[in-house]
Amino acid sequence: MLTIEWSATEGWQAPLIKPFGNMSLHPACSSLHYGVQTFDHSELLECIRRLVEIDQDWVPHSDSAGLYIRPTFISTEPSLGVKKPGHALLYVILCQAGSYFNNEAEALSLWADPKYTRAWEGGTGDCKMGGNYGCSLLAQYEAVDYGCQQVLWLYGEDHQITEAGTMNIFLHWINEIGEEELATPPLDGIILPGVTRQSILELTRKWDEFQVTERYLTMSQLCSALKQQRVREMFGSGTACMICPIGHIVYQGENLHIPCQDKNTQLTSRIAKELTDIQYGRIHSDWTFLV
Ligand SMILES: *Cc1c(COP(=O)(O)O)cnc(C)c1O
Repeated sequence: MLTIEWSATEGWQAPLIKPFGNMSLHPACSSLHYGVQTFDHSELLECIRRLVEIDQDWVPHSDSAGLYIRPTFISTEPSLGVKKPGHALLYVILCQAGSYFNNEAEALSLWADPKYTRAWEGGTGDCKMGGNYGCSLLAQYEAVDYGCQQVLWLYGEDHQITEAGTMNIFLHWINEIGEEELATPPLDGIILPGVTRQSILELTRKWDEFQVTERYLTMSQLCSALKQQRVREMFGSGTACMICPIGHIVYQGENLHIPCQDKNTQLTSRIAKELTDIQYGRIHSDWTFLV
């Protein structure tokens, strides 16, 4: 593991790569990154590069698995008070992870209940902060109780579609004015700015085959598009699953069936293929970072 300690008096200490070990963490103040100066980004990338180099024998040589790199930044303040941290730790651990994406896998089912809110304006929903995830579990358990796999997070009185579980969400459809469009909600403070989301936007914009838009989407827009058969596909995106097709949404007592295209026209398979081709160096891309 890579560890880099920070304290208010001494600032950032020298990065250390050491054997993986247990850590005792202060339970109440994980991810209080506010008030701490950030560690230099390119320096961190170099430290992670070195960590991966040391552990290179663990990198799976397979299309269906990868090395998961998990950087975490926590407060290690040895006190119970809720205050600006004086001590913090940035650490990076690695593990092998299998691919979630499987062409044969059944599409996801989502539970959409407006009584739950994942993130709100002025909150921390647009950061990967520990506190955002603990409180999402209640809704997740309810989704499972109702036979669904994940929560579809809605927002506001018009039931805006925001995210699915811990994934960004995309809708491929014929929009209200008859254009073919791939749409995802805009980064207005309540959406996690996922790197997979950004990659999909950049890829599909480069294809230049349909509109690619960051816009608001509401449940009523989705329901009327479903009735008028204007929906082609819906999917979630995130590092772990890459891309995950959505098959059903349970909303206000109705089980909405989301169509899937056949294998040859499916956008999810096409995007997944292109992203893995980039990751495995089969297509050249300036996103690749050589270790
Ligand atoms: C991690 C996460 C995502 C996906 O982000 P990636 O950078 O693509 O992995 C989307 N939404 C939420 C809420 C997340 O926590």
